[in-house]
Amino acid sequence: MRKPFIAGNWKMNLHRNEAVSLAEGIAEYVSDATSYDVAICPPFIHLDAVSTTISGSPVALGAQNMNSQANGAYTGEISASMLDDAGCQYVILGHSERRELFHECDVVVNDKLRAAFQNGLKAIVCVGETLEERENGQTNEIVAEQVRGSLAGITSEQMADVTLAYEPIWAIGTGKVATPEQAEQVHAHLRSVLIDMFGEATAETIRIQYGGSVKPDNAAELLSQPNVDGALVGGASLTVDAFTGILAAIS
Ligand code: PEP
Repeated sequence: MRKPFIAGNWKMNLHRNEAVSLAEGIAEYVSDATSYDVAICPPFIHLDAVSTTISGSPVALGAQNMNSQANGAYTGEISASMLDDAGCQYVILGHSERRELFHECDVVVNDKLRAAFQNGLKAIVCVGETLEERENGQTNEIVAEQVRGSLAGITSEQMADVTLAYEPIWAIGTGKVATPEQAEQVHAHLRSVLIDMFGEATAETIRIQYGGSVKPDNAAELLSQPNVDGALVGGASLTVDAFTGILAAIS
């Protein structure tokens, strides 16, 4: 079946020595892990140091964003080939903070995804609804639209390199976690959208992470749901104890 995939999104946190010691602690913990996949996504400036720190361990390196252009006059931006060069295997695309704060729409996410593939990167593509959209009963419609737009024109073969992350915006960084039933309902819906887009055989292989206030004490129940295949973790990925606590809970 689908192997659980836990990814830590460090966002704009940690200085170099803190990033290296967090990466060391995680790599030490997962040194013999085989029952799940793990990735950590530090800020760009720490990718190189963290890459060296986790080299030889099963922990994969990811970035939190990238630009879809190959190179050129894009001040402050980072390309997919630079991420590949820095040792990244993954990139997070379409995180709600990118969508909300930096106005990234599904077309932008789709462009970035194509550029990621061209450079051998795997992607974690995020979708999720606001509290208002949930209260208006629009959750299924919103996440389906985001999936269809972000994955437009992507082939079934390319989907081998995509993880979907369902991150209800009202649960991110708020301490308000979706109930396992709420998460499963949306994940099952997303699976049905993937079946429609890519066929059942492909859709059944695609991992769908849940993200939004995942902690050691709620991870096991969330991940016990049939369509919850892992977690994208923000706050609880910033300490060795919390992040490895989540790994321990799902082992
Ligand atoms: C996130 O931003 O991807 C996230 C899930 O954050 P948190 O775990 O802090 O809610």
